[in-house]
Amino acid sequence: MALFIVRHRHEAERCPATDPYMGATLLNYLSRPNVRQHGITIQGEAVVQGEHTLYMIVESSDEDRVRAFMGPFAQAGTPDSRRSHPRHSGDTPSSSATSASGA
Ligand SMILES: [Zn+2]
Repeated sequence: MALFIVRHRHEAERCPATDPYMGATLLNYLSRPNVRQHGITIQGEAVVQGEHTLYMIVESSDEDRVRAFMGPFAQAGTPDSRRSHPRHSGDTPSSSATSASGA
């Protein structure tokens, strides 16, 4: 199993949270049982306030699964998954890890 950092960002005017139906759909999609069906475990998640950016630390056997899982997010914005440094796998996700760019 490997750890991945997933970043999703969308424009304010396309924010799913402003659409009750889409917001609920995404919340359902991120529910633990559904996530597990994709072979993914969410270790941590954080939303950058006011920037419409979501960070997730997920565990999965391969990156393809992560990309497939993030597919629906691509409709709302730009998903970006990166394999994390293996040595950091024991680290606790920290909100200070977010770098605000282009806000
Ligand atoms: Zn938003």
